[in-house]
Amino acid sequence: MTIDQPWLRRATVDLGAYRANLRHLQEVVAPADLMAVLKADGYGHGAVALGRAAVEAGVTWLGALELANAHELREAGIDERVSIMVWQFASSETFERAVGERIDLGLSSLRQLEAVARAVRSVASAAAPDARPEALIEIPALVHLNVDTGLHRDGVLPGDWDALVLRAVELRDEGVIRLRGIYSHLAEASDDDDTASARALAEATERAEALGARFERRHLTASSAGLERPELRLDMVRMGANTYGIPVTDGVTAADRGLVPVMTLSARIARVKRIAQGTGVSYDYTWRAPRDTTVALVPIGYADGIPRRSQHGASVAVRGRRYPIVGRVAMDQFLIDVGDDPVEVGDEATLFGSGSRGELTVGEWADLIGTIGEEIVSGLGPRIPRVYV
Ligand SMILES: *Cc1c(COP(=O)(O)O)cnc(C)c1O
Repeated sequence: MTIDQPWLRRATVDLGAYRANLRHLQEVVAPADLMAVLKADGYGHGAVALGRAAVEAGVTWLGALELANAHELREAGIDERVSIMVWQFASSETFERAVGERIDLGLSSLRQLEAVARAVRSVASAAAPDARPEALIEIPALVHLNVDTGLHRDGVLPGDWDALVLRAVELRDEGVIRLRGIYSHLAEASDDDDTASARALAEATERAEALGARFERRHLTASSAGLERPELRLDMVRMGANTYGIPVTDGVTAADRGLVPVMTLSARIARVKRIAQGTGVSYDYTWRAPRDTTVALVPIGYADGIPRRSQHGASVAVRGRRYPIVGRVAMDQFLIDVGDDPVEVGDEATLFGSGSRGELTVGEWADLIGTIGEEIVSGLGPRIPRVYV
């Protein structure tokens, strides 16, 4: 969709703001590298368009989470000069294409490591069927070992660490893998908890080195600690939320961080109705007009990812003024109370954006209804065209 077509609802994605955020964050975290995390279709912004913009901004590491997303970025022309990392896999995953496309793999088990090793050998023997595969391994897999330092999601616990490292060292010596990194992910429960996790990662690194491993880089932090805890940045910081201009620390705005919200979500007012005091609107009549007023219909709803509880506190800007959501948010639409103001069919209603036209930011919207901005942007549905400017 282009910017000047007729539209009902749309998310405008400001690529200039995204690039500026990335440049700023690269400066802040230097000399550590910045990985731009593009999982969940770039937190709902569109991973391919943003991946290209990230490369233009000089980013050399992208985080894709899943192989399908990494392949999509490679297909879009992001070549091997840019590292793309993936760390969530199907249990039956095969890694041939990942090896061929030089995707960085964050591994959490011996089983995954063996599957990767099989893939490297099969790629090598497909390239030269008559030769002894070991002699022909030209593309070692790019492996990062994931240490569980407290989050208890993926990552390897200390009891399984030695076995994984010993096998990784063996495969490295055979030329089957490269040890590109060792990493973990923080729980962000408290500064002390994060410090303990950093210590656990350091201990796992020392232990692995004692077993013969050498890692090209160590990485641990994401948006929160990547800004708040410079001493934990190590060699790379993996950031999602900040790059989209969504601040993750309570009470801190994007502007405080030198960041600009990248997405503006709008819909065009579809209908305007004058109603009398006491009139109930939308399902269940959970709201009745406290006075004679005008309600305006905003054609976007929970099927598009607008949480139903947005009724309790969120507001929408029209012509530079903010109006509360009234009554239930329905699947495709909700109402706002515009009082006696001259709001017309076709006016742009901005749910959230940079804040420059009186609207909330997505972080503020999220705060008002008890969630986080990342949940809202990553949950926006396919009925909302993304428009890139
Ligand atoms: C999502 C994710 C990130 C980015 O997190 P933000 O808080 O959005 O910066 C970094 N690392 C891993 C492993 C992740 O899953």
